[in-house]
Amino acid sequence: MATGSGSSYVGRFAPSPTGSLHLGSLVAAVGSFVDARRAGGRWLLRMEDLDTARVVPGCSDEILRALEAFGLCWDGAVEYQSRRTDLYADALHSLQARGLTFECSCSRRELANSVETGYLGTCRAGPTRCGPTATRFRIDDSAVVLFNDRIQGACRFEMRTLGDTVIRRRHGAFAYQLAVVVDDAAQGVSDIVRGADLLESTAWQIQLQQALQLPRPLYGHLPVVVEATRGKLAKSRRSLAIDPARAGSQLHAALGLLHQAPPAELEHAPPAAVLEWAIANWTLDRFHGMKEFVVATQMSLD
Ligand code: GLU
Repeated sequence: MATGSGSSYVGRFAPSPTGSLHLGSLVAAVGSFVDARRAGGRWLLRMEDLDTARVVPGCSDEILRALEAFGLCWDGAVEYQSRRTDLYADALHSLQARGLTFECSCSRRELANSVETGYLGTCRAGPTRCGPTATRFRIDDSAVVLFNDRIQGACRFEMRTLGDTVIRRRHGAFAYQLAVVVDDAAQGVSDIVRGADLLESTAWQIQLQQALQLPRPLYGHLPVVVEATRGKLAKSRRSLAIDPARAGSQLHAALGLLHQAPPAELEHAPPAAVLEWAIANWTLDRFHGMKEFVVATQMSLD
């Protein structure tokens, strides 16, 4: 579908180049792409490559080639978070200037116990130990974040149970929660369609948007693809890796998972034809409130 139709919708896909695209990421990419095109909107692409320890060399390009093979064509230039750190530094300083951050010396091991309950506020009054520190965003313990998700419906999070999130890691890298909020605003993103594994993160992101006086996009959290054994799909799962050589049939399978019921005769159609059908028939109504799309462990994408 042609873009530039005057729609104010701006969507985006923001993969982390830490592994090849897999079925779960294909579903998220297709969901956000088709939703944007259905609205006559733009669809941007952003590489979330700040976590240098996990970034796999060559992976960004592989993801771009795969998206092209699937006909998931983005608008404008690809943004790389690793080239945008000045923006995150400005946002960090602005939060620091207003006393909304604190330095935290807790190690991963010390934090392991608080995973269930959120960060317990150990370093709120100052780092408890010498050495490198991470920076955390100080949440308001009494804050309750409410938002209406297009797919999950009314969502409510008590910030006290989530705790103070890391916005700059111990060795200096900016963290996802800060970068995503800065970028979505800087890129004018109006609509975010992504996996429900990020539903909880949305609460922090809304709090950060408020603190930085940034607009709040509309959210739609797609069910995440899980295997029948109930583990979240890891990007390394070869069995569910996507194959650009079979893009049309794999798109068909992804749309099936998204409850779009694509007609059988499209199964061997080229990607552009499958996507054209998906855009014309797109609806979120069939998986309202669902958190997971369960696939059999051996499901191949044929
Ligand atoms: N980079 C994140 C991921 O690959 C997605 C972030 C987002 O969509 O907000 O899981």
